[in-house]
Amino acid sequence: MADTLIGTGSVGRHYVSALRQPALIDTIDDVFANGTGKVTRFMGRDPLRDAVYKVTVNPIGTSVLLVFEDQTEIEQAGQMRRDFVANVSHELRTPLTALLGFIETLRGPARNDAAARDRFLSIMEGEAARMSQLVSDLLSLSRVEENERRRPTDPVDLVALIDNAVSVLGPVAATAGVSIQRKLPDHPVTVPGDADQLRQVIRNLVENAIKYGVSGGRVVISLSDPGPQPLLRLPGVVLSVQDFGEGFAAHHIPRLTERFYRIDRHRSREVGGTGLGLAIVKHIVGRHRGRLHVESEPGKGSRFSVVLPTAN
Ligand code: ADP
Repeated sequence: MADTLIGTGSVGRHYVSALRQPALIDTIDDVFANGTGKVTRFMGRDPLRDAVYKVTVNPIGTSVLLVFEDQTEIEQAGQMRRDFVANVSHELRTPLTALLGFIETLRGPARNDAAARDRFLSIMEGEAARMSQLVSDLLSLSRVEENERRRPTDPVDLVALIDNAVSVLGPVAATAGVSIQRKLPDHPVTVPGDADQLRQVIRNLVENAIKYGVSGGRVVISLSDPGPQPLLRLPGVVLSVQDFGEGFAAHHIPRLTERFYRIDRHRSREVGGTGLGLAIVKHIVGRHRGRLHVESEPGKGSRFSVVLPTAN
């Protein structure tokens, strides 16, 4: 442990040559000189990870005692929070800038131009809708994260849930010119779950299949009978949503569930995406101790499968 921290062969060497980091050496010198304890930071030398330590330096008789506390995870969590806030601000700034610009135009040059006013108002409506969708996705994400450790236990019939989701999304699909086909068992299939969250998983996957698979003209939702699931090493079911649209290259798959990750930012914006749909799916599936499995081929379409255990 100490070897990875300050390097091998440090025993018996002077602290200046063993530690080699000016901030820490200055702090030790200071503690020697003044006799009061101090705290500083030390960057780890482990080449496999960027470790950061908080070092408490205290005088003990004629020596000093250094206590190293690994802060890497705390710092990483802080960085993730900062990235997230930066991303959210960026996502909100684009529609807000557009709205402010149009308000200014409507007050000035386009004040008496009825045709321009109608066009601008409909763009403004779209931008406001985008912000509203972003806020509701952010709230969903934080709600899911809040109770991620609490495993859901209500019996939920997935067949009824899918039937319900299809009737809600039917009009959206019809407007896009996409037909939704169901391949479901003819009997209820129950899993321990949270009905609202599982409904959201189905909705997000089917909405994506409609948005990005529109050129294929159809979306197939299927549900397997309960059976052994090698991905879970438990009995479970597979719910899958398949489209025959644009698809994507395999190297995107590991990143799809990252917040705000989009393969084609412009395309996602065009179809009203927030970049949070699959992040929400991943968290919900995780809470249900399930797995999300993605397959896709450019130009042929994609299949998103959710494997859920049938018993806790
Ligand atoms: P978005 O709000 O942008 O749709 P998601 O988190 O739901 O965000 O999806 C992330 C990205 O994954 C999308 O921007 C899109 O590039 C890609 N994607 C998701 N589903 C599909 C699909 N069925 N076909 C092709 N690409 C998809």
